[in-house]
Amino acid sequence: MRTTFLPFSRPSISEDDIAAVDTVLRSGWITTGPKSAEFESRFDEYVGSKGAVALASATGGMHLLIEALGIGSGDEVITPAMTWVSTVNLAVLSGARPVFVDVDRDTLMASADAIEAALTSRTRLIVPVHFAGAAADMAPIRRLAAQNGISLAEDAAHALGTEYRGERIGCRGTTIFSFHPIKNITTGEGGMLCSDDPALLDRIRRLKFHGLGADAFERETQGRSPQAQVQEPGFKYNLTDIGAVLGLGQLARVDVFNRRREELALTYRERLSGIDEILPLADPTYPMAHSWHLFVVRLDVERAGISRNEFMERLKERNIGTGIHFLAVHLQRYYRESMGTRRGMLPNTEWNSDRICSLPLFPDMTPEDVEDVVDAIKDILKK
Ligand SMILES: *Cc1c(COP(=O)(O)O)cnc(C)c1O
Repeated sequence: MRTTFLPFSRPSISEDDIAAVDTVLRSGWITTGPKSAEFESRFDEYVGSKGAVALASATGGMHLLIEALGIGSGDEVITPAMTWVSTVNLAVLSGARPVFVDVDRDTLMASADAIEAALTSRTRLIVPVHFAGAAADMAPIRRLAAQNGISLAEDAAHALGTEYRGERIGCRGTTIFSFHPIKNITTGEGGMLCSDDPALLDRIRRLKFHGLGADAFERETQGRSPQAQVQEPGFKYNLTDIGAVLGLGQLARVDVFNRRREELALTYRERLSGIDEILPLADPTYPMAHSWHLFVVRLDVERAGISRNEFMERLKERNIGTGIHFLAVHLQRYYRESMGTRRGMLPNTEWNSDRICSLPLFPDMTPEDVEDVVDAIKDILKK
């Protein structure tokens, strides 16, 4: 058994990352400024987008987007229930109604058909989720949104470096990335909203900083009027230069990180293939490149004779950390009580919500760490 704890995720921070943050800390300008601007343009180049806005979080990006689209009371926002809670929370806080769709049992992503079945005359926004680093099948979803005049925003929190049919996620439409420490790159906390709609980008830029239309750096150093006035009430979701400089160093290494994640994921797949109780996710059949954000397995609880929670507990006793991505949103207390959602509505989401478990996966892991995880799983399942 391992003598040290293996977390399910850990950011890769190099000495150069630390030195870069140190430089910003000593520079006299630590909030949004030149490093944030540079991070936005490097990010733009990497994903191939028309414009990128650096933000304090992906959740902040979703808030700004919902606000910019004027979504509110009487509107509906379609999203899978197998997702992080932020999209759903923000839809509700805006006064809109979240509409949950089920996912494919083995890719955990929603199809255009499932989304189409949930459309009503009140649907204003569709938020597909690229899951665990795989790409959602965007072509039919884009067609559906365009035909019905509905806004589309991709949740790409897992998908930095992911490609769909030869194109990087983020290069078209409106896409939101996250730089929370468990994601493929980190800024401590942070996010990026990319879009090919210049008017939307302008609005997001204004709303992210009090609605002033200029940030503090522009006002103090770029000769913009220090008396900038509110164009419309806005929020405070700008990324600091401390975070941005970390993001710059991380972004330069994202392909290396993702290749490393892939090697580890393929080792997991091979080493787990003989264990019937462990069911990894399936790859989609259309052309894509995976960013391997997570290595998610489902525990066949019937065969294993233990619950997923017990399985996670026993891994923890063996010094292996795990995560759950995600507990079905529609079964969480607030949503059950306020919307009347319940078990039986989304069978594939619920089946997975009871069985999924994310195994440790991060670039600084070694193949020996993977062996430790597999050995612990075999020990628990008495293989
Ligand atoms: C992490 C995550 C988010 C939220 O990102 P933050 O930057 O923490 O706000 C949104 N959606 C999904 C699918 C995520 O995994």
